[in-house]
Amino acid sequence: MTPRLAPGADLQGLYESLRAEYGPQNWWPAEGRFEILIGAVLTQNTAWTNVERAIARLQDKGWLEAAAILAADERQFTEALRPSGTFRIKAQRLITLCRWFEQAGGFTALDRCPTTELRNQLLALKGIGPETADAILLYAFDRPVFVIDAYTRRLLARMGWLAGVGKRQPAYESLRSVFELTLATDVNLFAQYHALIVEHAKQRCRARPLCDQCMLRTRCQTGLDA
Ligand code: SF4
Repeated sequence: MTPRLAPGADLQGLYESLRAEYGPQNWWPAEGRFEILIGAVLTQNTAWTNVERAIARLQDKGWLEAAAILAADERQFTEALRPSGTFRIKAQRLITLCRWFEQAGGFTALDRCPTTELRNQLLALKGIGPETADAILLYAFDRPVFVIDAYTRRLLARMGWLAGVGKRQPAYESLRSVFELTLATDVNLFAQYHALIVEHAKQRCRARPLCDQCMLRTRCQTGLDA
C-alpha cells in the first residue's frame, strides 16, 4: 500500500531547498558506466570512502570492466576488495553481476531492455536488493527510478512527513512510488535529488542532526521541536 505523506509534505519544495543550499551534485562519482555497477555493490553497508579505496585497487589492476573481472584470479580479485568490508561476499556478488552482464550482452543489449524487465533481472541476482538495483538503473542506465535509502527515510521521518504511517518503516516500494508519482518523471531530477539527500545527511541531518544550522528547521518537525 502506498503510504500517504503527512499533510503539508512537499517533495518538490524540499528538492528546491536542498538544491538552493548545496547546488548541483556530481553523481554518481565514476569514470565509466560499469564502475557505477561496481560502486553500487561495494557501497552496501559501508562508507563511500571505503569504496573509493577498493575501486582504486581495482583500477590499478585494470578490473573495472565485467570481462576483466571474470578473467581475473578470483582470490586476488577478492583481496583487492578488502577495504570495502564484507569483501568476500561482495566479491561473489560482483562476479554474479559480471556474469549476468556479459551473458545479457552488456550495455549494448541491456540499454534496449525495458526498465521493469531490467529491474527484475537485477533483483533476481543474489545480493542485489532494491536500493542497489535502483542505483544501478538510475545512474548507470539513466532510467527514471527513485533510489530510497536510509537517509531518505530518516529525513522524511524527521520532517514529520511519515507521521501518517506511524512508527512502522514504510516498505521500500511504497516510498519509491510516492516519489515517482509526486515528482516529474525526470532522470536528472531523481539523480540530483538522491545525491542532495545524501549531501544533506552528511552536512546537517546527521545521526545527531545539526538543526540549529539547518535551512529546513522552520519546516521540519524535528527542527521545530529542537
Ligand atoms: S531541521 Fe534537523 S532534523 Fe530537520 S532536516 Fe534539518 S537537520 Fe534534519
